[in-house]
Amino acid sequence: DKHSAKGFGARSVRRDGEQITTWTYFKRIVQLSLDFWPTLVAAVVCLVITQGLQIFAPNVQGSIFDGILAYLQKPEDGRSKFEFAMLTYVIINVLQGCFSGLKALAQELVQRRMACSVRLKLFASVVRMDIAFFDTMHTGQLTSRLTNDASQMTQPLSTLMNDLLANVLLLVGGMLMAFRTSWKLSILALTIVPPITYSYRAYAKWARKITRSIYCAYGEANSTATDAIGNIRTVRGFSTEEHEAFKYSDSINTALGHGVRNAYVGASVTAFSTYLNLGTAVLILWYGGQLVCDEKGQVMSIGSLITFQLYWNMMNNAFIALGNVFNDLIRSSSAAERVFSLIDARPDVNPDDGEEVTRDTVKGHLQLRGIQFRYRSRPDTAVLKGIDMDMPPGTTTALVGKSGGGKSTLVHLLMRFYEPTGGEIFLDGRSMTTLSSKSVRRCCGFVAQDTQLFSCSVIENLAYGLGREYTKDEVVEACRAANAHEFILDMEEGYETRVGEKGIMLSGGQKQRLAIARCFLRKPRMLFLDEATSALDAENEAIVQGALETLLSDLNSTVVLIAHRLSTVINATQICVVHKGSIVERGNHDELVANGGVYAQLVSRQLSRDASAVMDS
Ligand code: ADP
Repeated sequence: DKHSAKGFGARSVRRDGEQITTWTYFKRIVQLSLDFWPTLVAAVVCLVITQGLQIFAPNVQGSIFDGILAYLQKPEDGRSKFEFAMLTYVIINVLQGCFSGLKALAQELVQRRMACSVRLKLFASVVRMDIAFFDTMHTGQLTSRLTNDASQMTQPLSTLMNDLLANVLLLVGGMLMAFRTSWKLSILALTIVPPITYSYRAYAKWARKITRSIYCAYGEANSTATDAIGNIRTVRGFSTEEHEAFKYSDSINTALGHGVRNAYVGASVTAFSTYLNLGTAVLILWYGGQLVCDEKGQVMSIGSLITFQLYWNMMNNAFIALGNVFNDLIRSSSAAERVFSLIDARPDVNPDDGEEVTRDTVKGHLQLRGIQFRYRSRPDTAVLKGIDMDMPPGTTTALVGKSGGGKSTLVHLLMRFYEPTGGEIFLDGRSMTTLSSKSVRRCCGFVAQDTQLFSCSVIENLAYGLGREYTKDEVVEACRAANAHEFILDMEEGYETRVGEKGIMLSGGQKQRLAIARCFLRKPRMLFLDEATSALDAENEAIVQGALETLLSDLNSTVVLIAHRLSTVINATQICVVHKGSIVERGNHDELVANGGVYAQLVSRQLSRDASAVMDS
């Protein structure tokens, strides 16, 4: 991943001109964990106690051996010394197990609570994003942020506690105890630290360079292969197969050469450091043995020598573990980067900004002036090229025209799913940009070609987003008007039937009737309809059509409908023919037919299609 290559503190993203580094993410994770500080403090305290006990243990182990020796020499005194040391050792182990368990529990609790809080923040941030954001982001990507990344981003906390803090404690504690046990042996042992550290540093620097050369050589080999395979006709035509194969093998052999050198040097460094380490172990035993058997009197007991050996191992292991901590921290903060970048993302238009409108204060007069639009995901295609429209309250405007002309886009702009890239939309004479888009949408109803339902009961789906108290009678009445009551009652649990994920248990026509029933319940001031095209069979189509007609005549809303059927268009107050992002004709049915333009052609084509359908049947 890109961070491991850059190193800790590498610059990664710019936000508001501020440099965001891995360090920043890391600080934010720690800040987040401070929300759960009592549990976090408990975890740290338990960790310190556990490590303290671990640091103390070698001392006691040494005393046990001294106890055994004393027992051999003088059974009456030695036995109690041995037993006391054994008892201490058992107590230390029992306590260590207990505190490490408590530490693991507290840490897990902090991490789980952190992940939960991150998920809540992330979800809240994502559902507020502009619709344009979802055009470029896949559902899978987003859900994986919510599940995997949200739990993975707490990993740095675990690395920090279990790897960094735990090992620093062992290293420092082990060193102090080693000096306390024998300063002479300690100085002897520590002499190997500088050469080992230096050789590793030097090797790491060299290895980075050689790895880069290996990648470079593979890159050249790949581009040779891509060129040759992509241009195979030319290669064949000029009979240059052998030349290409030679070029390819040249790069591959270079890469292999670097790889082999890396293997030799890596192995030498490993052997060198292993010898240093083992050599030190031999020296410690040799010199330690002299201290124990000193003729002028014992300088060190056998137990102390064993204790020292144990501290030496402790420091060694802690030192090796610390070498990887920073890389681990950097690797694990890439999940945090993904999560925080989403949490920090702000929609271009905050749905709450602007003046609130309500159903009672809105008349529903919609006007478009010079509306232009491009989708952010396809910035070089102008989808709408200057649309002017006037839709007085209570009128019906039908949008007709070939698919891809921009009709749905226009409706999406009216619902403020997207903001126009040019021009302005007015509601009751006020610019939409001054009104809260959330409150405007509360005054709108929408029947799409594919109705989106949630995996809950029919009645919950109907009342979704209603934002007020409702009675069952009210819902039933709306469903009767939408021709949905009968089919709902036919289902096993009637209005309580769960409709499955995305309403999988219902047919297209049934889902549309539920969408129409939703509109009857909401009584929107502005209603947007996308007429279904071919998804419905004839019988269903007639039922849905009937429901739509009742809806249009009962609600008296300002209606914008994307029409595919002549029957719906004929009664519209005005018809706009949308073609390639512009309105090419407008007027009512009679005017447009008399015009003899695009609309008249559409009508005559539809009439002849209907006539042939009648003859077919
Ligand atoms: P209509 O409703 O008249 O069939 P649309 O408004 O759906 O037309 O589409 C108009 C143009 O915008 C088409 O070229 C379509 O490919 C493009 N378009 C529609 N939705 C998106 C989107 N979410 N992202 C990018 N381009 C889109």
